[in-house]
Amino acid sequence: VIVGKGSNTQKCWKTRELLMDLSKKVFGQQLFEKLMKMTFYGQFVAGEDQNTIKPLIEKNQAFGVGSVLDYSVEEDLTQEEINCTFEGLNERVFISANAEVIYLKLVKITVIFRAHVCLFQHAVVNGVRLMVDAEQTYFQPAISRLTLEMQRIFNREKPNIFNTYQCYLREAYDNVSVDVELSRREGWYFGAKLVRGAYMCQERSRAAEIGYEDPINPDYETTNRMYHKCLEYILEEINHNRMANVMVASHNEDTVKFTLEKMNETSLSPTENKVCFGQLLGMCDQISFPLAGQAGFPVYKYVPYGPVNEVIPYLSRRAQENRGFMKGSQRERSLLWKELKRRLFSGHLLYKPAY
Ligand SMILES: Cc1cc2nc3c(=O)[nH]c(=O)nc-3n(C[C@H](O)[C@H](O)[C@H](O)COP(=O)(O)OP(=O)(O)OC[C@H]3O[C@@H](n4cnc5c(N)ncnc54)[C@H](O)[C@@H]3O)c2cc1C
Repeated sequence: VIVGKGSNTQKCWKTRELLMDLSKKVFGQQLFEKLMKMTFYGQFVAGEDQNTIKPLIEKNQAFGVGSVLDYSVEEDLTQEEINCTFEGLNERVFISANAEVIYLKLVKITVIFRAHVCLFQHAVVNGVRLMVDAEQTYFQPAISRLTLEMQRIFNREKPNIFNTYQCYLREAYDNVSVDVELSRREGWYFGAKLVRGAYMCQERSRAAEIGYEDPINPDYETTNRMYHKCLEYILEEINHNRMANVMVASHNEDTVKFTLEKMNETSLSPTENKVCFGQLLGMCDQISFPLAGQAGFPVYKYVPYGPVNEVIPYLSRRAQENRGFMKGSQRERSLLWKELKRRLFSGHLLYKPAY
């Protein structure tokens, strides 16, 4: 509840890095890390490396919730780190290729290509699906192009690789429909993660500064309509040939309800695994767990991990980008308050559900 409250104000996120620097100096590195692990890091990050995150992955799995691993340091991955990432993970895990990898090496396109073919190959051989994050519009064409080429190679037998489509973009529907068409014509499995998009403010201010047309939809309602239009199109494609696949990556209850209604209308069963849901770790568990446990849908938590010092700035940046959406956490906080009060009055404050 406290972390949720702290995450909710813009001012708080802006001053957090300064506060963190200060606390590091005052408390020293060790105590600082402990404090972080008890608060923000503990809430939103799974652990430091592939071993420390295993208990959390197993716990979620016991409730039917899978994991999308996101090594959230803002640096390039070495071959060794890529190999480590895959060790000991099973099929209920997606690996998220953080697009920062591409971001940092954009100028060296051949190096990127070789590094990514290797990463994708490694994933497919180990039976792990791979999602490529979407970034700002000035990188996205390169990221999408590379992902499409990988899908052409690795999505022949099943949907191993998912691309991400940001529905706050005016061109989102065109992007989705062109790629679906292409997959249909060439006979490979289409895989999409649908998000609203995390870089709205940055995109708008850059467009205004440089003087080109704002690539973002004029308002939130248009983004919502765009999301549902793209989703409906993919669901139709699933009905048509069962080769398309989609992750509804959203904390928006209306979007989740919309998906369930459309699936119901078209008799698309959750067990077909054509549609899955994704939420960020530490957020909207009230959506993820009932969807997975009681309703039996494939649900994944997006699980960031990495060393404390390197992950906190990433989280801070991400939260700033997601300011609008942080307001939505109010509902989650009120549910947590309700549960806290219930436990206080029933004398079960430290109750831990068995799994
Ligand atoms: C599993 C998962 C994976 C993700 N991966 C990515 C990724 O790869 N790339 C990426 O960019 N983001 C990613 N995100 C973040 C995502 O794009 C959203 O920022 C976040 O999920 C909030 O959207 P929502 O649908 O959950 O919630 P909502 O609260 O319904 O939507 C908030 C979002 O609506 C949009 N919005 C708000 N106001 C306006 C407006 N005035 N005009 C236009 N649009 C507006 C913004 O995108 C804002 O973030 C991911 C999210 C999840 C859960």
